[in-house]
Amino acid sequence: MPLSAATSAREILTGLHAIMASRGSAQSKLDKVVDLIADKMKSEVCSIYLLRQNNLELFATHGLRKEAVHVTRLHMGEGLVGTIAAEGRVLNLAEAADHPAFLYKPETGEERFHSLAGVPIMRLESPIGVLAVQHADPRRYQDVEIEALQTVAMVLSEMIAAARLTDGARRGRLRSAGPLRLPGLRLVAGMAKGVAVFHEPRVVVEHTVADDIEAERERVYAAFRKMREQIDNMAKEAEFGTTGEHQEILETYRMFAYDEGWSRRINSAIDSGLTAEAAIERVQQRTRARMQEIDDPLLKERMHDLEDLSNRLLRIVSGRMGTAAQTGLARDTVLIARNLGPAELLEYDRRRLKAVLLEEGSLTSHMTIVARAIGVPVIGRLHDIRHSVEDGETILVDGDNGSVIIRPNRQLMSGFEHRMTLSQKRRAEFAAVRNLPAKTLDGVRCSVMVNAGLAEDASSLPMSGADGIGLFRTEFQFLVSATLPGRDRQLRLYTKVLEAAGNRPVVFRTVDIGGDKALPYLTDDAEEQAENPAMGWRALRLSLDRSTLMKAQARALLEASGGKTLMVMFPMISEPWEYEEARGLFEEQVEWARHAHRKLPSQILYGAMLEVPALAEMLDQLLPRVDFISVGTNDLTQFLFAADRSDPRLAQRYDWLSPAILRFLKRILDQAAAANVPVRICGEMAGRPLEAMALVGLGAENFSITPAAVGPVKAMIRSLDAATIRTRMSQLLAKPPKDMRKALGDWARRHNVVVG
Ligand code: PEP
Ligand code: MG
Repeated sequence: MPLSAATSAREILTGLHAIMASRGSAQSKLDKVVDLIADKMKSEVCSIYLLRQNNLELFATHGLRKEAVHVTRLHMGEGLVGTIAAEGRVLNLAEAADHPAFLYKPETGEERFHSLAGVPIMRLESPIGVLAVQHADPRRYQDVEIEALQTVAMVLSEMIAAARLTDGARRGRLRSAGPLRLPGLRLVAGMAKGVAVFHEPRVVVEHTVADDIEAERERVYAAFRKMREQIDNMAKEAEFGTTGEHQEILETYRMFAYDEGWSRRINSAIDSGLTAEAAIERVQQRTRARMQEIDDPLLKERMHDLEDLSNRLLRIVSGRMGTAAQTGLARDTVLIARNLGPAELLEYDRRRLKAVLLEEGSLTSHMTIVARAIGVPVIGRLHDIRHSVEDGETILVDGDNGSVIIRPNRQLMSGFEHRMTLSQKRRAEFAAVRNLPAKTLDGVRCSVMVNAGLAEDASSLPMSGADGIGLFRTEFQFLVSATLPGRDRQLRLYTKVLEAAGNRPVVFRTVDIGGDKALPYLTDDAEEQAENPAMGWRALRLSLDRSTLMKAQARALLEASGGKTLMVMFPMISEPWEYEEARGLFEEQVEWARHAHRKLPSQILYGAMLEVPALAEMLDQLLPRVDFISVGTNDLTQFLFAADRSDPRLAQRYDWLSPAILRFLKRILDQAAAANVPVRICGEMAGRPLEAMALVGLGAENFSITPAAVGPVKAMIRSLDAATIRTRMSQLLAKPPKDMRKALGDWARRHNVVVG
């Protein structure tokens, strides 16, 4: 036996290269291949079995009886060969007959041989055959021999696929090729159907045998350098998030990216004659096989990180770096990603993007908010989704129930279509309610506005049935731009929004950048180091420090609102002086505009967002100075519970209907009512009918919600008696039940309130 796996494999590969390049039928080539391997590995038998019509057929052999070729067939999972293929793993047996799966096939004449080593031949991670060697001596094969067999199997797969000798590979292991239902967390409701597309596409290795080993080595070095650079940059970018789980993932990425063992293994695979791509894939296969034997879930998780990184390395080396957005979507698509940022989501063609499935994700992250705004269903917390589905497979997304069905059969498909029709019907019913007034049964007139942030949102306003835009997130324009939008670009957007809104009010919020809305072109050393960007240099804090930015925005807003009412509010106010300063800055710009004889708004209303709990303690100081208050329950909740709103592990932990939040909101609402200052609730909470019902019970009457929720929330309001829910809420808050959500749900049902 040769000394190292590399030399052994290289010798065989050189021979294989010649066979592959030679003329002749695929059969004659495979006949030569088994002779070559038997010769180089000094084995008495070498056989190739290929998957044809769901059977593993003995296709070529050196050492077994030739009459058995194309005659001996095994099912997937049958005998040793069937086990190797079905389980996608290596068998290395000194005494093959002792293995429980051993099945004797008399036509092969294999009774003379005691030992067997077999490896699966994989294509697109799916088994398409088996390569096996046998010896008369009862011996266990050395690791280097197994390695060599695996490397050869990889090259063979290219040859077999090119000759179309097998059933054709589809990604995914055969044993999981049936329908699969996965539960997740509903982030944006809605139902959709489409084909799976990976946000970061996987690379299929086309060429496995290297022409020039040195050149391949150089390619891998360069790819490693680039990958390490990318990972380092990711760690620097606040956009990726530097807290909690992200931090851990990054740390692991870094550890793997700099792992010498990994690059060494890839290098030695190149030594054996593989291309850079094939070497990366080969090492990954080995890791994958090892992963299957590990029982520790934590370690498995880490192995997925390595898989991610390996895929990244493959993409770099093969020059296929773009996301699926750059390649374009050809069909109705269900996008699959570990996580996604708001700007990344907006890069996709919205006509084709039907749903997004994430392994992470949380209810109030900005990507979820953007998806909700553009009406794309999202399911998060789908454990291992990226490894459970293959590119191009059909997926049914039940965003209403928070589950997905992969590879549905006809029955599942028809059941889903039935539910989808019902869901559309329900939506149509809500659409009918949309344009009716949001008045409770006892005559309390609520205002239902929408949250918006993109130019397109403005034009759909008349159709949404909303009373106006209660929160215009101006930072979305910044998020979707490659460069900082200047005053003119802002002016154009604000003008368009106001025009589309007509007589309806629009509340502009000044930029709230930072947290999970970091901009690559606007960073700061301090921000890069921030451990918790959501509580860092963000929103108004940043705007006050970068007053040029704020001034430009103020001028754009003032000019766009010439002759009209300008409603503007400031995000993340923690103390009243911040509000004063921001307002002062605006007023300076008003003065400037007056001097410059610019047309001024007919009226300016200033508001503060209440989303930092500290501000609630200072309302007595703040209320006399503001025209309105807007409560951002997304941030308020994360700060009240000290629970990162984009941390997927906390996504289901705290409930908006918890007495702590409800009591807190009640205090704010009561205090503002006493001071005669209107309050609008504009976080995601208000867009959920049951939560909105509780808010009415607390005395809230103004809501700003996601457009799709206008119908359901109005339907709830129109079926509710405000006085009764107020009484009930007072009782519930005085003596909170164990499960507030259940108590409110039961109450709604008993009182026929439409809550979903
Ligand atoms: C909020 O925090 O609730 C809010 C409305 O603002 P954003 O979600 O944009 O942070
Ligand atoms: Mg906020």
